[in-house]
This record gives sequence, structure tokens and C-alpha cells, in this order.
Amino acid sequence: MGQKIGNIPEPKYKRIIVVGGGFAGLKLARELSNTKYQVVLIDKNNFHQFQPLFYQVATAGLEPSAISFPFRKIFQNKKNVHFRIGKLKSVDPEEKIIRTSIGQLKYNYLLLCTGANTNYFGLKNVEENALGMKTTGEALTIRNTILSNFERALNTNNENEQKAYLNIVIVGGGPTGVELAGAIAEMKKYVLPKDYPELDFNRMKIYLFEAASDVLSTMSGFSSDKSHRYLKKLGVVVRTKTAVKDYDGCTVYLESEEIPSKTLLWAAGVHSKKIKGLPDEIYANGGRIKVDRFNHVDGLEGIFVLGDAAYMEEEKYPRGHPQVAQVALQQAANFVKNLRRFEKRKPPLKFKYRDLGSLATIGRNLAVADLPFMKFKGTVAWVIWLFVHLMSILGVKNRLFIFLNWAWNYMTFDQTLRLLLKPIPKVKDRSKEPV
Ligand SMILES: Cc1cc2nc3c(=O)[nH]c(=O)nc-3n(C[C@H](O)[C@H](O)[C@H](O)COP(=O)(O)OP(=O)(O)OC[C@H]3O[C@@H](n4cnc5c(N)ncnc54)[C@H](O)[C@@H]3O)c2cc1C
Repeated sequence: MGQKIGNIPEPKYKRIIVVGGGFAGLKLARELSNTKYQVVLIDKNNFHQFQPLFYQVATAGLEPSAISFPFRKIFQNKKNVHFRIGKLKSVDPEEKIIRTSIGQLKYNYLLLCTGANTNYFGLKNVEENALGMKTTGEALTIRNTILSNFERALNTNNENEQKAYLNIVIVGGGPTGVELAGAIAEMKKYVLPKDYPELDFNRMKIYLFEAASDVLSTMSGFSSDKSHRYLKKLGVVVRTKTAVKDYDGCTVYLESEEIPSKTLLWAAGVHSKKIKGLPDEIYANGGRIKVDRFNHVDGLEGIFVLGDAAYMEEEKYPRGHPQVAQVALQQAANFVKNLRRFEKRKPPLKFKYRDLGSLATIGRNLAVADLPFMKFKGTVAWVIWLFVHLMSILGVKNRLFIFLNWAWNYMTFDQTLRLLLKPIPKVKDRSKEPV
């Protein structure tokens, strides 16, 4: 038997463990605060991350602190919520115990909201050398890599080497890849030539590769087509039906072409990791866990999976829901309603996804919006995008900060966050210790 997670009292009523404080987990913990349940929230980080704006951190448009929210601040004065930094290691469904990097704990309800990770589709070299963008830390690494490579490009007279430092290859033409490509193209247009007047930016190319037949293929044909045109207008080399085969950190290998680049940004897909202790037959494609319409895992009493990690079939979504924030938020809201219904011995409500629409921004005044009632492009879509993202951010201060930042960037055609900040290890590296 491992040691129990420290300083969590025995619950007066029932204990709900929420693993993962992303969109689903945070919504659950907030809705369950100030209830009779004891809520234990466990996350690898001590903050919630707003993933839709990662690309702006990666391209020096926003500070990481503007889109990351400390759990302890969110749950100040919520006496029934206990937060711990820890990593889920395994689950024992028989004993109703989870084991984590900081100890083990018994649950009445276990809510797994661990999201998804970058999928490199088994390409080992790509996994080793490319950069994913699934955490705030990774977004900062992209920012540091891009800026460092421009500094290095200045120090070489070898044209090919310089091209490798300047070229940026993005793989994956979904919203993340499209938004990254657009933001980097705007940096090239408005910011970088001013910062690096000694460099010849005709040597820099931004590539966007997509294996499917078009970018934003999950959106309407209208939006897919418009975004493709916007990217071209910004000078991005867009290649569809193109798959990256290998990458050694210096050269990107396609089927019959090689591109020199020290920066490969991988936004091609996600998968969820299997959890030790849970039976193999519960997993569907992409490592998602099969759940019923109440987010319950069949045969595992008290275990529910929500958000990106869950695979639920609905009449309209026979191959599972899209892995987007709204699904996670709506599943969390439905679970909380059902919890109240379980207690009153009322039948639970089936989850039904309400699609509120999809948005993607490519650059200033260039965006696409598929709303349930209408499709928009250009400035109107861009304003909708700004409004929706601003309203989704936690906290009035962050909202105001982001708004001012965007307004400043818009007026000055500049991003002010181009600092290369690197931690300097002075004492023994304690990063392998828990917490
Ligand atoms: C770059 C990017 C841009 C996106 N843009 C959009 C967008 O514009 N609109 C949209 O709707 N969706 C967007 N998405 C998708 C959206 O962010 C996800 O669908 C959503 O975050 C899923 O919520 P979740 O709660 O399931 O998981 P997440 O929000 O990913 O949260 C998972 C949490 O679990 C924690 N965790 C994971 N494993 C463990 C473990 N073993 N132990 C402890 N903690 C763990 C993580 O630290 C994290 O806090 C984007 C995603 C990315 C990566």
C-alpha cells in the first residue's frame, strides 16, 4: 500500500476526485465548490491553461500569465475543494483508489479529465526534434526557439544554414496550425524586418503542410477555402495532401522533397495516453475512453471520463464528438446536473452536444466563423473571434490585460514580448522530485 495523499481529511459525505483541471475539470470543480461533496482536484500543473490562445504566446503576442490561471487563486475560500499538484499514475477500480506521484486516495466518484497529448503518429525522430503546442510551457519553448534561431541566423554567412534558421514548417492544417502560420506570417511582415534589418527575409519561408485535401477541413467549405486564400495572401506556402515523413532537427523530409528548417511545429493531431489499471477494452481510437451518454465508463462503478479524453457516440456524432472546449464544458455541466439527479434518485439526463459554431483567425481582419445561423469571413469574423475569446478568458484583470495588449498590437503593428527568458539552474536540479 502506498502512502495516502497528505492532509486531505476523510470526507463528511462523499469524495469526488477530479483529475485534470482543464476545461472539463475546472468547470466541474468550480460547480461543485460550496456543495456537500469533498472535491479533490489533481493536476500536473498548478494552473489552468487556456489552450486556444497558446499560439499567441508562441508568437510573442501574449504573456503566458495572461492565459494561465493558478488553481489556488480560483479556489480561495472554497473549503470543500482541495487542490494538489500531482500526476495520475494508475487507477484501481476494484478498491476505488487512484495512485499518483504524491500518494494514493480513495474515491466515491472519479472524474478523469486528462485531455489529450500531441500525436506524432509513431514518427520517433519527429517526436524528438519537433515542437508540439499542448502546454503553456511548450508555447513558450516555441517562442524561445523562433527568437533564438533568428539570433543564430545573424551569425552565419552560409546561405543554406541561414535558410534553415529562418524557415518555419508547420504541420497540421487544423485551427492550431492555421492560426500559428498566420501569426508567424504577420511577424515576418510587420515585426521581424524591423528587429533584424541585417537579415534578408526573402530567404525566410513559412510552410504549412496538411495531409488532408484542404486546411480547416472540419469547418465549412466556405471557411476552408477562405482561410486557404488568407494564408496565401500572407505569404504562407500551403501544401495540402502533403505528409512529413521524417525530421532530424535540420531537414524536413517529404515524400520527394527536403526542406531545410530548424523549426518544425507539430499541430497534426492528438491522442490520449492509456491509464494503468483500466482494462484495455475501454479504449477507442486515439486512446479516448468509451463512455455512455452520461460520461460513465461501462462496468467501472463511479468512474466518469469527460472532455477530450472521452469517446461518446451520439446520433449526430457517430464517431465521437469533436475535441473542442465546448464539448468539455457542456459535459461537465451535464454531469453536475446528473449528480444532483442521482442523489434524488431521478433518472440522469443524456448528454447532447450543442454546437455553438467554430472560429479561426488567420491575421488582422482575417478570420472565418461558422456560426449555426450564418458564416462570416474577414473583419466581421475577426471581431467575433476577438469577442468570443475575450469573453472566455477567466478573470476581469486578464480580460482587460489581453484587450489592451491586442489593441496596442493592432495600432502599432508590433508585439512587445520578444524576450528570451531562460531559467538558469543554480542549485541542484530538483525537477525530478514530485511537485
Ligand atoms: C493549441 C490549441 C488550440 C486550441 N484551440 C481551440 C479553440 O480555439 N476552440 C476550442 O473549442 N478548442 C480548442 N482547442 C481544444 C481544446 O483546448 C480542448 O478540446 C480542451 O482543452 C479539452 O478540455 P479537457 O478538459 O478535456 O482537457 P484539457 O483542457 O487539455 O485539460 C487536461 C488537464 O489535465 C491535466 N493532466 C493531463 N494528464 C494528467 C495526469 N496524468 N495527471 C494529472 N493531470 C493531468 C493537464 O495538465 C490539463 O490541465 C485547442 C487545443 C490546442 C492544443
